[in-house]
Order: sequence, then C-alpha cells, then structure tokens
Amino acid sequence: MEISHIEHIGIAVTNLEEAIPYYENVLGLKCYAVEEVADQKVKTAFFKVGQTKIELLESTDPEGPIGKFIEKKGPGVHHLAFAVENVNDALNDVAAKGVQVIDKTGRKGAEGLTIGFLHPKSTLGVLTELCSDK
Ligand code: ZN
Repeated sequence: MEISHIEHIGIAVTNLEEAIPYYENVLGLKCYAVEEVADQKVKTAFFKVGQTKIELLESTDPEGPIGKFIEKKGPGVHHLAFAVENVNDALNDVAAKGVQVIDKTGRKGAEGLTIGFLHPKSTLGVLTELCSDK
C-alpha cells in the first residue's frame, strides 16, 4: 500500500451550525460543501487546508456511528483518512498483515470517494480510513 497524503481528518461535532462558524470565523477556512451521507447517518461539511481536508461530521441518528461516538466520547477528532491509489487493494494489503478491517471492500463515501475503514483495535486506537477518488 502506498499512501500519497492525508486526504482528510474527520471530526465529530454536535451540530454543523455551531461548528462551521468556528472553522470559518476563527480559523479562516471556507466551507465549500455540505453533504448528507445517508448510509453513514451523518451530515458532513468540508474545508480545505492545502491538500488535506477537514470533514466535520454531524450525526443524523443517535444510533449511527457518529451518534454513538459522541455519546461515548463527546465531540472531537474521529478518524484519519489516508489517500491511496486503490482502496480494495489497500484493504487486502492491510488485512493480509493481520489488521482487522471494518470494510472488506471499498464503499461509497462523501464527495464521490471510495472508502474503507480499519478497526481502531488494530490501528493503535486511531480509526483509520483509506480513500481513493477512483
Ligand atoms: Zn472520512
């Protein structure tokens, strides 16, 4: 597997209306997209920082992954996403090295990316996403 860069950092927020002004008015970033990903029960907002993005995640369902995360840990950094050439190949690669994968094959994420998650139990506590624009 070859990682080209950090594609984005996923941050769980209680609500986007409260979070977006902080990123825009305090950090001076510009929110360029808000998108609901029904599949993952989240509404996302995106900011660019160089080649890397900040992905804010608001839960749309308390039983969804972000809803549960916030209930357990409160808002904060949720996951780290690395850009790879091919998500399926990368998932196979890490699985072959004994890493527990949440997704055996890539699925559709926000912004039309193909994504797959590695289990934090196998990644020293960091929920890790692999993604590709192909
Ligand atoms: Zn993500």
